[in-house]
Amino acid sequence: MSIYHTADYIFPVHKDPVRNGIVEVGEDGEILGLYHSSDEIPADAVVQKHKGFITPGFVNSHCHLELSHLLGALPRHTGLVRFLQSVMKFRYYEEDDIVAAMERADAQMLENGVVAVGDISNTAISAPTKKDSAIAYHTFVELLCFEPEKARAYFDRALETCQAFDLPSSITPHAPYSVCKEIYRYLKQLDHPERNLLSIHNQETEEENKFFRYKNGDFVDFYRELGRDISFFKAQGRDSLQSMLPLMPSNQPCMLVHNTYTTIKDIYFVNRHEQQITWCFCPKANLYIENRLPKIPMFWKMEHEIVLGTDSLASNDRLCILSEIKTILQHFDEIPFEKVLRWATLNGAKYLQMDEQLGSLEIGKTPGLNLISHVKGKTLSEKSTVKKLA
Ligand SMILES: [Zn+2]
Repeated sequence: MSIYHTADYIFPVHKDPVRNGIVEVGEDGEILGLYHSSDEIPADAVVQKHKGFITPGFVNSHCHLELSHLLGALPRHTGLVRFLQSVMKFRYYEEDDIVAAMERADAQMLENGVVAVGDISNTAISAPTKKDSAIAYHTFVELLCFEPEKARAYFDRALETCQAFDLPSSITPHAPYSVCKEIYRYLKQLDHPERNLLSIHNQETEEENKFFRYKNGDFVDFYRELGRDISFFKAQGRDSLQSMLPLMPSNQPCMLVHNTYTTIKDIYFVNRHEQQITWCFCPKANLYIENRLPKIPMFWKMEHEIVLGTDSLASNDRLCILSEIKTILQHFDEIPFEKVLRWATLNGAKYLQMDEQLGSLEIGKTPGLNLISHVKGKTLSEKSTVKKLA
């Protein structure tokens, strides 16, 4: 038997919000109907009335379940390079503790109305958690290999890790500063590069641009401290994004994550390229690590595709997309809630190729249903909370 939910506003996302709208949901969560308050519904219908907004389930486009055990372990505002060094130090935990933390993180996301996750993995340790989860996962198996002579072996190992996930997965470079050119060459040689979704950390720190422009700054020290010889790497005279993009297979969809130090010039550079770029923002992680936000309105005004992520519990106090939306609205009040909601739902589902079922309240989909309470008119308030309805 279906249930009819009504609220102050229904946000179907694929079309305009409906004031006092009604959404009909089947027992399996399928959207069966979307009505205005003046439309007739059966006299014996079970109607649940709510205060607030009803939206589709959220898509968290960038997470690292594997780092969930680092909740609260790393200091804030250290900058990215110090942060990475701390993460490397903390990698060695008992497997049971890592798995238990991942299970808790997965449950927390479900409770916070997340229905799909784009998750970065270095190993297959998260595979059982993801397989048992009610959340749909796409795993991005991440490659870190800056040494050309090791690239082939690292690439093949990552392909094997991909296969260990009995779920949608793809292989992706970690960041411009952590992979050598050979990795991009191997990506181009994949059977169908266009089916291999990428998710690359991009310009999370200005040090990354310095490294590519002039080959100086913290990343040079970082590699020296690791004892790595990077004499083969030459200053590129341009930002990291502009150095990386020409190396990538042009038909491969690419999500660039963070973009805290991406400039308008970088965006013009992207516009001149064939590459289909989606920008992913994780504002709370940016505040945690670098205490700075990307110029989100700049991307929005250029009408680029945008999605949202939480990053990991190493750089966030919770895995909650509503908190990311609130952070954006608090800092950039020119962007309407309705737009940001689209980034958090349909756009993420599209990038992860899950929009046939998820992302909007279209009839026939099973997108999950979230109730957002404590709202203010057609936008959120600082007190807004999320509850999963279906
Ligand atoms: Zn990340």
